[in-house]
Amino acid sequence: MFTNKIYDCQFMINNFVQRIFLIFFMIAFYSCEKNHGKIFNQNDIWIKNGSIVDGTGSRMFFSDIVINGDSISYIGKVSKDINAKKIIDAKGMLVSPGFIDSHSHGNPFKTPLFENFTSMGVTTITLGQDGTSPSVDPYSKWASQIEDLRLGPNIASLVGHGSLRMRSGIGYKTKPTDNEIKKIKSLLRDDLSSGAFGMSTGLEYVPGRYAQQSELNALAKTVGEFNGVIMSHMRTENNSTMELDLQELFGQGDHSNVHISHIKVVYGKGIERANEILNYMKEKRQSSMFSVTADIYPYLASYTTIGILFPEYALPPNNYSNVLKNRRSDLLSYVYNKVIIRNGPEATLFGTAPYKGLTLKEVSDSLNRPFQEIIVDIIGPNGAGAAYFTMDKDLQYQLMKDENIAISSDGSPTMYHPRGYGSFAKIIEQFVLKENIFSIEEAVRKMTSLPASLLGIQKRGKILVGYKADILIFDPIKIKSNATFSNPHLLASGFDNIIINGKTEIGSGIFLRK
Ligand SMILES: [Zn+2]
Repeated sequence: MFTNKIYDCQFMINNFVQRIFLIFFMIAFYSCEKNHGKIFNQNDIWIKNGSIVDGTGSRMFFSDIVINGDSISYIGKVSKDINAKKIIDAKGMLVSPGFIDSHSHGNPFKTPLFENFTSMGVTTITLGQDGTSPSVDPYSKWASQIEDLRLGPNIASLVGHGSLRMRSGIGYKTKPTDNEIKKIKSLLRDDLSSGAFGMSTGLEYVPGRYAQQSELNALAKTVGEFNGVIMSHMRTENNSTMELDLQELFGQGDHSNVHISHIKVVYGKGIERANEILNYMKEKRQSSMFSVTADIYPYLASYTTIGILFPEYALPPNNYSNVLKNRRSDLLSYVYNKVIIRNGPEATLFGTAPYKGLTLKEVSDSLNRPFQEIIVDIIGPNGAGAAYFTMDKDLQYQLMKDENIAISSDGSPTMYHPRGYGSFAKIIEQFVLKENIFSIEEAVRKMTSLPASLLGIQKRGKILVGYKADILIFDPIKIKSNATFSNPHLLASGFDNIIINGKTEIGSGIFLRK
């Protein structure tokens, strides 16, 4: 009996161990299957012997990748010759997900191929920024028109808060009625149901600047219902009011994911100042059920309308010629002070005619008139776009290193600023290789899975089985961002092998819906 019992017991233990082993084996087999995926009899693309930087931030590894249709079907060593329509030898090359730009500008009806973006490795762009939707139509109508275009990169889009204000009849009002709030919320809801990824605000511009916290919070609740994101060009971006700007956004962050567009601190300085802002964001993130993120472009000059230098009383809906008649001298001194605090007239570089390529200082010297008169009397608040050299290197670099801040371009095919042509290439060329600010794995994460997750873009931004095949195959040494402030429209070079939605042909992008 006794012996038998021991035997029984041992049998049970053996049986137990066997079961555990079997379960372990099944899990291992399953996860192996999951990682490796399937190789078919006929495959579309076989990328051989690449160094894979998969977008998650984990260490680079050597592998083959097989693509079928628009998706990655297998990751792992392919031990025998397989049938593939196209074989790409990636020996000595990096293989990464295509870059995702969370803040982009441009008109897909004019430049559907967006070569400026694809040439720097960007396979998905995000339009509808800074409060302005790409069209005055409902999102669903605009989206279906985009779907008919032959696009270079994939396009995701936000709905602009300023555009919603115009469509809802609120326009430039500071205090919308309850009915108007109902109207703007229902327009937003329709647009989010049609696939917009969230809402953008441009609180430094008209009409967004007329919105108050209660309106923004009401809209944030709607965005939150759709698990979307509010991407905000904040009210000032100025050093002295940065905390107030953030507070306003974080109020919305009680109801929705919030995101700071092109984070910068105008005339702020130093690493410590950056850390204060990062800590402020971190506190909010830790106390919130929603995400708090930002994006940043790797240049120390911004670019926007010259309207940014004007006070509210000189902006629509106020009539500018009346302002000139009644308050010209106030306006001159306002603009004078504003330009001085933004590093002076040599720090404003015009990007539009008639002074394109000249600084405000150069224009002022050549016309022999004070710079504030050039802005007020000759140009006016809608008369130009310009680059502004207002950012501090230590501060901006410190922000850029934060793990929740993605790389973006904030650029367009036409803007007179190199960021629309160079940002993503510059990260590899300068920030990874020259200055060692990021590892290649971290840089790629900030350009792929991070922007995908903060926007809620599914199945892109990582190299994983089942993910869409947006893939770059490149030699990092050859990546060059060629655009400069004096020659901003030079395409980046080195990304010669780009796969978008499993295709290598130009024009394979699609319109993405959330
Ligand atoms: Zn902006």
